Amino acid sequence: MAIEKSADELSKRDELLQLAAEIARKYVQGIGERRVPPTERDLDNLVKFHEPFPNGPSNPVEVLKELDEIGSPATMATTGGRYFGFVNGGTLPASLAANWLAGAWDQNAALRAMSPVAAELEDVVLRWVCEALGLPPKCEGGLVTCATTANFSALAAARHALLARAGWNVADDGMFGAPPIDVVVGDEVHASILKALSLAGFGKKRLTRVEADDQGRMRADKLPPLGERTILCIQAGNVNTGAFDPAAEICARAHEQRAWVHVDGAFGLWAAASPKYNHLTKGFEQADSWATDLHKWPNVNYDSGIVLVKDGTALRAAMTITAAYLAAGAQREPMYHAPESSRRARGVEVWAGLKSLGREGLSSLIERTCAHAKTFAEGFQGAGFQVLNDVVVNQVLVSFGSGEITEKVIRAVQEDGTCWCGGTVWQGKSAMRVSVSSWATTDADVRLSLETILRLAREVRS
Ligand SMILES: *Cc1c(COP(=O)(O)O)cnc(C)c1O
Repeated sequence: MAIEKSADELSKRDELLQLAAEIARKYVQGIGERRVPPTERDLDNLVKFHEPFPNGPSNPVEVLKELDEIGSPATMATTGGRYFGFVNGGTLPASLAANWLAGAWDQNAALRAMSPVAAELEDVVLRWVCEALGLPPKCEGGLVTCATTANFSALAAARHALLARAGWNVADDGMFGAPPIDVVVGDEVHASILKALSLAGFGKKRLTRVEADDQGRMRADKLPPLGERTILCIQAGNVNTGAFDPAAEICARAHEQRAWVHVDGAFGLWAAASPKYNHLTKGFEQADSWATDLHKWPNVNYDSGIVLVKDGTALRAAMTITAAYLAAGAQREPMYHAPESSRRARGVEVWAGLKSLGREGLSSLIERTCAHAKTFAEGFQGAGFQVLNDVVVNQVLVSFGSGEITEKVIRAVQEDGTCWCGGTVWQGKSAMRVSVSSWATTDADVRLSLETILRLAREVRS
């Protein structure tokens, strides 16, 4: 009797998983054809989710169908090749597929004892990422949700290391009464660094800002005096222009004065993977810590950030829970390298994505997206519109005239739905930002999107 029931349950579960795979396949197959943003009606339908918490159980098949019917149309089609918003990547087929399997595994990646495979894959991908980015092979790191958390984790490590130099144990004694630390950032610092700094106990008002040039690069000649308790945050890839700070010069000057250099390289660091673009990342390997995202340029699915620190003891000291953990075995334990304890095994999708690309695939992904960005820029300029940045990588800032007109064009593009681009303000000027970050973007996607944007811009202006 009991066996029969469980056989029935097994077949129901099997049916459910089959259905989930079918629904997901249908979604993936149709993604290139549909509007990029949802329609108003799709958005209105989301109210259907808002019911009181149900008293009784629901059939999982019905649950899944409801999720698809209401949820799928209200997604943003970021994986389809014509989404150019923020710096959001798509998802590589291998990463998506690995994500399905990892969901079935449901591993807790906190400790090696909880998931040997998760811990082992983290070891592998940390080595691969250091290699791809040209960073010191002995770096230690943690797999975190995003670049914001990676920035936070690196700053926590830096804070620990710099205060330890002054004989202060910040883990025990906290920040109150601690010897002061100076934090220096560029004028075009990403907002996530400011958030990370405030989380780590450094006030946003206590920063020294260094003048940036018209591309957002920190001016090395404007650096203030640094010291052995200075954290200097530099940037590989400005979120608007894609520009890179002059890292070699800055790192050399900072290290003469014993300062800690942290790199926010959320997407830009990946230029290191291409022989054609790796001149841009030269010098960044001389820093002390790095934050980057796998879910941006490398097109691993969410959520996937990485923190890397040259002096691994600093990261472990900042992230360890108790002294007993510090005395851990010879093998790396994931949770001593990140803020979280229990968490999903995000190294699985990173491994699958990077393995499926290899060095050549990664390099060609970087080069292809940069070439698409150039096509956009040339198309805008050819039509008489002003491109505000030097298009050095995958980011294009375009103005269609006054701020008001540019904002109208952005709204028209978003309502049209053929593609999706967001707005930004670059050094006081409104712009539409085109970020080509998806492996799925084809020449045809670029042509269609460009034609659409130019047609809408002419309509707005006339
Ligand atoms: C996107 C971005 C971030 C933040 O990344 P999240 O993954 O959203 O936390 C930080 N810095 C730069 C330069 C970025 O482009």
